Amino acid sequence: DVTIVWHRRDLRIDDNPALEAVSQIADGCVVGAFIFDPAILKSDMVGGGMVDFMLGCLQELEQSYAAIGSKLLFLYGEPVERLLHLSQALGANRVFFNQDVEPLAIARDNAVKAALQANGIEVRGFIDIGLHAPDAIATQAHEPYKVYTPFWRNWIDKPKPAPCDRPQKLLGLPNYDKVAAISLPSLKDLEFSHAQAIAKSGEAEALRLLEAFCDSNGILRYKEGRDFPAEPGTSMLSPHLRFGTVGIRRVWAATVTASDRVRSNEEQIGIQTWRQELAWREFYQHVLFYFPQLADTAYRPKMQRFEWDENPTYFEAWCEGRTGYPMVDAAMRQLNQTGWMHNRCRMIVASFLTKDLLINWQQGERYFMQKLIDGDLAANNGGWQWSASSGMDPKPMRIFSPIAQARKYDPEGEYILQWLPELRGLTQAELLSGNIPPHQCKKRNYPTPIVDHNIQQKKFKERYQECT
Ligand code: FAD
Repeated sequence: DVTIVWHRRDLRIDDNPALEAVSQIADGCVVGAFIFDPAILKSDMVGGGMVDFMLGCLQELEQSYAAIGSKLLFLYGEPVERLLHLSQALGANRVFFNQDVEPLAIARDNAVKAALQANGIEVRGFIDIGLHAPDAIATQAHEPYKVYTPFWRNWIDKPKPAPCDRPQKLLGLPNYDKVAAISLPSLKDLEFSHAQAIAKSGEAEALRLLEAFCDSNGILRYKEGRDFPAEPGTSMLSPHLRFGTVGIRRVWAATVTASDRVRSNEEQIGIQTWRQELAWREFYQHVLFYFPQLADTAYRPKMQRFEWDENPTYFEAWCEGRTGYPMVDAAMRQLNQTGWMHNRCRMIVASFLTKDLLINWQQGERYFMQKLIDGDLAANNGGWQWSASSGMDPKPMRIFSPIAQARKYDPEGEYILQWLPELRGLTQAELLSGNIPPHQCKKRNYPTPIVDHNIQQKKFKERYQECT
């Protein structure tokens, strides 16, 4: 009796529904598997930083399996073929995995299921990506939601599942001779490189971050702290939620513990605001599940007809953080150097690319996926479509002024100077003016603004009116 647990974006053993289900089967052997799928690795929505982060998680997961008596096997190739081969080589009669919401992942999983079942192998998928399955939340008319606020109201009212137990012991197989497994590849083996100083990966680090955020004032002060990119006001858990080094039920339980400990209404609001972000994550999963076309096109038909500019020079300036708008440039440098960007800044740079440079949001979406270590189709696409006025936002016309945003959210210019050290020495007024004197720019090899925000936003609005 052998069960394979196929790991994909659940790179942990704690609070893992697929592993818990398999642990409950008496006397069965359990083997973990992870497949490096060239179709994913070669896509233009994946970058070296993200893969490096993932490899760190996998290294730790391999050790975790060994520590509880089993093994995590690494395979390379097409998943249907690899899993069929692995199941036959191990004599496995079950394959368990935690489900995904991305259209390509769903198609792949359906193909795997069909092929394995045709060979007499039982296949089971579990809910793990969110607290609730994407189809567990519906309007009274049994329709999917398209607007966040009613989704949130429904989501928050639903009882939340408890974390699954961490398995203490698994029964591994006596030998793996017949299996064409590979050892954990290096980044170079997978033909990636990156120049980012990425965050620490793995399950232990995820739990440390969760505790640090929820046991401290972090979560209690979240409502005030989350919008100031110079402050450590958010959890930094996104790459861990992306790769599942922490279970979402474990995350929820930490918010309940925090909530039980506080008395003041203000602090409860901090916790509730953070839960709203967890619900945003699930809202974007929900809509991607029901409207898979979001992955390829603007949701609003009007925006499918919008005339974007082809402008490689502007795009490159945006990517490199050389637009002459310090808040935009600081944010892009943070992304390029660390693989992470503060949420406020993601909104600012996305608005700038689409509303100031009039460049198609899909170019920005792709660049983010190549650079972010938390790059996640549902959240990233949702964020980009929201910023580009092309998504489900009921108030779609939002244009951020990069100058007003900097004044409001980085009033001391602290964040700007952290990422643009060449601007040190300027007065605060110069930094936040949106118009650094040209001689100062020249001296510092920093560009003057490549576009005029007021002119460009008018242009955007005109084109928006034109496309009916
Ligand atoms: P916290 O503020 O501590 O929030 C906790 C968790 O909630 C996050 O880790 C994340 O999983 C989730 N979350 C928070 N805000 C959002 C949101 N607006 N939408 C969906 N989930 C959210 N998030 C990603 O995880 N991957 C992406 O690829 C991604 N791309 C984005 C692109 C754009 C243009 C925008 C505007 C936002 C994007 N976000 C993305 C959402 C958000 O910026 C990040 O989740 C957040 O900055 C991560 O930091 P944190 O873990 O400290 O978040």
